[in-house]
Amino acid sequence: MFDYLIVGAGFAGSVLAERLASQAGKKILIVDKRSHIGGNAYDHYNDDGILVHKYGPHIFHTNSRQVFEYLSNFTEWRSYEHRVLASVDGQLVPIPINLDTVNKLYGLNLTSFQLEEFFASVAEKKEYIRTSEDVVVSKVGRELYEKFFRGYTRKQWDLDPSELDKSVTARVPTRTNRDDRYFTDTYQAMPLHGYTRMFEKMLSHPNIKIMLNTDYREIQQIMPYREMIYTGPVDAYFDFRYGKLPYRSLEFKHETLNQPNHQPTGTVNYPNEQLYTRITEFKYLTGQEHPKTSLVYEYPRAEGDPYYPVPRPENAEVYKKYKELADATPGVHFVGRLATYKYYNMDQVVAQALSIHEKISTKLPLELEP
Ligand code: FAD
Ligand code: UDP
Repeated sequence: MFDYLIVGAGFAGSVLAERLASQAGKKILIVDKRSHIGGNAYDHYNDDGILVHKYGPHIFHTNSRQVFEYLSNFTEWRSYEHRVLASVDGQLVPIPINLDTVNKLYGLNLTSFQLEEFFASVAEKKEYIRTSEDVVVSKVGRELYEKFFRGYTRKQWDLDPSELDKSVTARVPTRTNRDDRYFTDTYQAMPLHGYTRMFEKMLSHPNIKIMLNTDYREIQQIMPYREMIYTGPVDAYFDFRYGKLPYRSLEFKHETLNQPNHQPTGTVNYPNEQLYTRITEFKYLTGQEHPKTSLVYEYPRAEGDPYYPVPRPENAEVYKKYKELADATPGVHFVGRLATYKYYNMDQVVAQALSIHEKISTKLPLELEP
């Protein structure tokens, strides 16, 4: 008899498996329908021996000391601050938009103070910031919005920014200084030997059994378990009772070039002129030295594996109904980006899983407490 059947071996499922096994001696069966652990953070060495992320670039960053310290039990780190350039008007300029972006784009020599004045002169006044368009035009005006955000967002989501919650483009700040880092979190680092190695360590507990290439529905009836932790799409769990929740997908085109280097920074975004949104060159992220280099191109898709919940009011309404069902389903805990329909980064999923573990463990009988 397993104490927990955990569906999905990504961050949500693996953190909970590790905590429940190591802190409370629970017996865990973790299943994933894919052929590997790690969920979307899975990485591996490709045929040329270059460490790549199968499901697109994953850069770890967090402000949570608790999350960073927790993951440090399973990996050493390599400091890495991600930098992104955007291809706009035939030039490569920093994104998030900063002082150098505007100066380079317009051939100016503004100071930070002058840039603030410039933004104030072009920004559109909005009484209420509701959409992803509002966020950007209220800060940098319509022209920069069109150059950097509108095309990229339409490609990525197949929606106009005016149809998406403000939270989507609000992920990318605007700066008047020269800071060209994509993230400003306190902790920014990559697992020294990769994500998959970190997941292997998390799951290497004698109480944790791993079953790959298995949809949980294939074994649910024949494997006895007490409770379930479910990290797949919430609508699929309930057989789409209230209809399909939209999840956006991507197609990843991987390529290895017979040269040591391809582009000047880890990621280059293409807001306007290509069918893909961005190209990432993995060696920047991993620090690996190799005579060849590997890239991934991201092509947004409507169909395929669910990668992104789509934050907009009508979807929030449908999710609310699924959440009510989930809350009323005893013995099943819904955790992670797909199961709680939240556009979460890795650290947020870890934080959510740790907090669910806290909740579960406070309900354990006293004699089982660590
Ligand atoms: P997942 O990793 O999706 O794991 C869920 C698992 O459940 C999957 O492995 C799936 O196969 C399995 N599953 C689903 N249904 C079933 C079933 N019926 N039976 C068995 N198994 C099932 N975050 C960052 O912090 N930094 C980044 O740079 C970053 N970049 C990203 C880039 C891309 C392209 C994407 C898509 C996401 C990125 N993220 C990034 C977000 C990050 O991937 C997620 O926050 C995190 O991986 C979510 O973990 P999870 O466990 O909730 O879900
Ligand atoms: N975005 C954009 N232009 C850019 C970068 C981002 O319009 O150059 C918008 C786009 O809508 C994107 C969102 O901001 O989906 C969030 O960007 P982020 O880089 O955080 O996306 P993720 O890494 O999660 O795919």
